[in-house]
Amino acid sequence: MAKILLVEDEADLAGVVKNWLEEEDLNLVELAKDGIDALSMLSKHSYDLIILDLMLPNLDGMYVCEHYRKNGGSAPILMLTAKTSLASKEAGLDAGADDYLTKPFQLRELSARVRALLRRQGTPRPEFVAGDLILDRNSCTVKKAGAQIHLRPKEFMLLEYLMRHSNAVVNLDVLIDQIWGSDSSVTAETVRTNIKTLRKKIDSPGQTSIIKNIYGMGYKLEAT
Ligand code: CA
Repeated sequence: MAKILLVEDEADLAGVVKNWLEEEDLNLVELAKDGIDALSMLSKHSYDLIILDLMLPNLDGMYVCEHYRKNGGSAPILMLTAKTSLASKEAGLDAGADDYLTKPFQLRELSARVRALLRRQGTPRPEFVAGDLILDRNSCTVKKAGAQIHLRPKEFMLLEYLMRHSNAVVNLDVLIDQIWGSDSSVTAETVRTNIKTLRKKIDSPGQTSIIKNIYGMGYKLEAT
């Protein structure tokens, strides 16, 4: 699971790409519709990866890329460009992009490049272990004592986040931000409901939950 900012002014394409990346790899994708929107979101929130269209209204992708890098932004940037000339690809890479894809592109190629860039970042790690519970990021599966457990996407993302930060207290607001999105209207009650159903699926009957409530602060997954 990665939190991705997609900067794309073509609404139809943006919707298709968002759905694909969310369903294919359980990512969380947030949309910016132009360069100004993108810079505003990048100044407020952090992302694991940015997919940046070059031709945008207001500020173009090249400007967004340069500005983001000049301000210390370090997330990998995959640039989308309709221009096939070598010069524009060079300019994109010189501006701080890590990779580029020429439109029109295949969705499968896009997600493969996204995965490659995220791997290069060192995140996400492929596997997390807590006791007899194993979460495999590659196959998007969770096993308890060798038996597969079926989780809904948000439950999987919650569990991955808690396992990635195991033995640390994770704040409720951070969970909402990372799993439902920076500007989502999701409330603490939604998180509680998902934690409840997740516990039912992963905990051993008759034992205390692996996910602890930390009163007034959030949750902690204990991995011994
Ligand atoms: Ca465009």
